[in-house]
Amino acid sequence: ASFFPGIKELPPDPLFGLKARYTADSRADKVDLGIGAYRDENGKPWILPAVRQAEAKLVASPDYNHEYLSIGGYEPFVKEAAKIILGEDSLAIKEGRIVSQQSLSGTGALHLTGLFLKTFYSGEHTIYLSKPTWANHNQIFTSVGFKVESYPYWNNETKSLDLDGFLNAIRSAPKKSVFLLHACAHNPTGLDPTQSQWTTILKELDNNNHLVLFDSAYQGFASGNLEKDGFAIRHAINDKLINSPIIICQSFAKNCGMYGERVGAVHVITPPGATGEAVAPVLRAIKSQLNKIIRSELSNPPAYGAKIVAAILSDKDLKKQWQDDLTTMSSRIIKMRHSLRDLLTNELKTPGNWDHIVNQTGMFSFTGLTPEMVARLEEKHGVYLVSSGRASVAGLNEGNINKVAQAIDEVVR
Ligand code: PLP
Repeated sequence: ASFFPGIKELPPDPLFGLKARYTADSRADKVDLGIGAYRDENGKPWILPAVRQAEAKLVASPDYNHEYLSIGGYEPFVKEAAKIILGEDSLAIKEGRIVSQQSLSGTGALHLTGLFLKTFYSGEHTIYLSKPTWANHNQIFTSVGFKVESYPYWNNETKSLDLDGFLNAIRSAPKKSVFLLHACAHNPTGLDPTQSQWTTILKELDNNNHLVLFDSAYQGFASGNLEKDGFAIRHAINDKLINSPIIICQSFAKNCGMYGERVGAVHVITPPGATGEAVAPVLRAIKSQLNKIIRSELSNPPAYGAKIVAAILSDKDLKKQWQDDLTTMSSRIIKMRHSLRDLLTNELKTPGNWDHIVNQTGMFSFTGLTPEMVARLEEKHGVYLVSSGRASVAGLNEGNINKVAQAIDEVVR
């Protein structure tokens, strides 16, 4: 103990702790609505057909090997990844205002961004996160030395966006702060701004010279439509709403079902104005500094998942299959949302209004259940969700939804 004075064991991570309790539960009809991973109609992990096909093609190729990638990552992957998030006809790509680096999925992208900004950003080293947000955001940015603040987002009474609170926070934050925005399928609330609210929010961010950091972990997974889920990012860039750099942290964990393979990227987009050769030296400098961080942290990014995603994105047929897979996942989730709302509202006549379940989007529903109700769901019914009341809708299926609705009804009454 003298070598590590004062060291204390920390409680388990809330989400992974929940998973451990679920695994240890011997009830046959237990239900896991905790972790944000897609499950098929039988409650099982799903390997996307597009991924299976890309994998088979990759492994059969005479060039297949397990060599190191370069420090920047797998070039075909980062190029295609940029096109997917920004759109083929993106102004940033056309004008040569983008630099991309492969990362360890979305988490690694955020961490890399934090380290980069801490060293090089001339503005405030304060990051504003939505209240509430994905719990890891706070840890990631605290660990790299950022000051973490929050902006109002979710109005619990109306179960809608607190737009005025959000805009006030943008105005009162020190100029040139960093604002983290969930690009779509906000975690944990499932509530996204409307397109016109996005315009208002982005303009206000620009008026106050803040740096915009988009966290894009659910593109295509939320609505099934890559363009729709990329709206906020594409709007900010193509309509030149933001005159500071924009950084995008992109994950393929959810939309390709490649959770454990850690496929992601960071894209830095320089402001409108300087294009082509005028901005190339800055982009090269950014790239080299991102490379330096990657070299010391992981030496080079993992290859396998990036090669699979690159194979999907660069092949017309595989891409079409992927689009179908996105529709399969998103429509099953939307169907479960409707079933749950209908069971609670029409069949069980559970007290309260449950329309928010169908109005929310993406993996999660912020149910409005209190921590006490959530605890009772777990103890009495073997239905597991995080204490905030966030339920992973992907964990619902025809086989367990009646049980879950009845359990919710019981704890609410
Ligand atoms: N950002 C948000 C909002 C998330 O919900 C997640 C995963 O749950 C991530 C980023 C990062 O995920 P990963 O590191 O698995 O790509």
